[in-house]
Amino acid sequence: MPTSADRLTALRERLAVASHLSQASALLSWDQSTHMPPGGAEARGRQMATLARLGHQHLTDPALVEMVDALESDGLEGDERALVRETRRVLDRALKMPPDLVAAMTRQRVRGRQVWERARREDDFAAFAPELRTMIGLTREQAAALNDEAPAYDVLHDLYERGSSAARVEAVFGPLRDDIVDLARAIRESDVRPDTSVLRRDFPEAAQEAFAVETVRAMGYDFERGRIDRTAHPFATTIGPGDVRITTRYQRNFLPSALFGTIHEAGHGMYNQNLPAEHADTPLGSSVSLAIHESQSRLWENLIGRSRAFWEGAYPRLQAAFPGTLDDVPLVAFVAAVNDVRPSLIRVEADEVTYHLHVMLRFELERALVEGALDVADLPGAWNEKSRELLGIEPSDDRDGCLQDVHWSWGMFGYFPTYSLGTLASVQLWEAMARDLGDLEGLVRAARFAPILEWLVEHVHRHGSRFAPEELLERATGGPLSAEPYLRYVRAKYGALYRLA
Ligand code: ZN
Repeated sequence: MPTSADRLTALRERLAVASHLSQASALLSWDQSTHMPPGGAEARGRQMATLARLGHQHLTDPALVEMVDALESDGLEGDERALVRETRRVLDRALKMPPDLVAAMTRQRVRGRQVWERARREDDFAAFAPELRTMIGLTREQAAALNDEAPAYDVLHDLYERGSSAARVEAVFGPLRDDIVDLARAIRESDVRPDTSVLRRDFPEAAQEAFAVETVRAMGYDFERGRIDRTAHPFATTIGPGDVRITTRYQRNFLPSALFGTIHEAGHGMYNQNLPAEHADTPLGSSVSLAIHESQSRLWENLIGRSRAFWEGAYPRLQAAFPGTLDDVPLVAFVAAVNDVRPSLIRVEADEVTYHLHVMLRFELERALVEGALDVADLPGAWNEKSRELLGIEPSDDRDGCLQDVHWSWGMFGYFPTYSLGTLASVQLWEAMARDLGDLEGLVRAARFAPILEWLVEHVHRHGSRFAPEELLERATGGPLSAEPYLRYVRAKYGALYRLA
């Protein structure tokens, strides 16, 4: 008779195969975004569909299901118990998904993304609309297959943020929306107008890259186990336990794009680089949710990268990186410029305050699309209307409107709210960290990032999926997710920057 230890060994071996298949797929996807010529798209779609099908077959093998059934009655404790629990989650999901649907979604992702890229470039929503319609149909099928008793949007959102729901998102967004609109209005009515033109001077790409690399290396992103490449839409991806890559894009006449984008992705990368090595290649060794992931990227990007303390330390180095370019810009003016708050059209370039309004817009529209309350043909108009309502401005074309994000082309509905939930969590973690470490500003000013990263590893990274997102946050911060720390932070920071009463 095999013992429970034998079964655990066999389970880990099987999970490793599934993990290797998905890592191979991640590498193909990384290549698609960074190096692949356009002609490779069709074949790449088939290759990734094959890997997805093999992974699905492997996970739904009855022998694996029997193994998990047996392990569940073995009375395991601690990490072994958590490993079996997490495996069950993955198995359940795989067993409920028909293989044809998995393959169809994978093919449509690749196709939809290629069409989206061209449609966005040429501002041609009509070209993308049929792909979007097909993808919405497939995601509805996916939601029904996974759980036909819950609302489709909740099922999809749960894929990214387990335990969360549209109702929970609404409960957080409701009060947040009013407070942000009030704060944004007070900022607009203040006399302070940062001069953001200083960020649009000539910043040669090679110097931008050198500065960004030096910055994220100092923060703790490990280049022995990572690398940075260029792409149209920045992301972080894990190819293997020792290979966590990030991508970025450089704009010669807009410094913040690559600078804060690289810090953001490095924040994601550091989370993945510090997941528990002993559980690599298992669901327990994976990051727990997208909101928790985003809390890491936002913490490094905003709470550190956009803080006055950070630039008190780093600004002379930045000035030296672009000789003569910023000599006439005092530190205080530069800090004001990188924290300029104003309604804008592009989510990924939005400031910390209005960012949530971009997310709320997408949350409302994608929910309506999934529920069938909004037809794809009406999306551009609905987008523009919502943009006027929330941000007070309207895009002049779809490129800066409903075509700006990759997510829907990739079938990711229910994903956007995690950006805001993660941002709120980042400030909650920062407050908890300050209680433990004391003077965080002093550490940031001195570029002493090691204690900060160690705290995050200790309270977040090393746990992998040991705890559900809410429990992880409670353990790390002493309370459930709340918008209050975030609101305290933006009121204090922007109250001072904009000299608000
Ligand atoms: Zn992110």
